[in-house]
Amino acid sequence: MAEFENPYAEEDPFVEAHFDCLDCGGKLWEYAIQRQMVCEDCRSVFASDDVFEVQV
Ligand SMILES: [Zn+2]
Repeated sequence: MAEFENPYAEEDPFVEAHFDCLDCGGKLWEYAIQRQMVCEDCRSVFASDDVFEVQV
C-alpha cells in the first residue's frame, strides 16, 4: 500500500500565495492548515475565503 504523503509535513507550513494583502498590498502567505493567509509586511491575517472573494 502506498504511503500517504502530506506535502506540508516536512516543510514550512507557509506557502506563497498569489494574492495581495487587502490592507497594504503586500505579499500574502497562505497558512494552509488553518486556511488563513498572513501578510509578510503588516502581519495582518485573513481567512483564505475572504481573500478569494475579493480577488477573483
Ligand atoms: Zn499587509
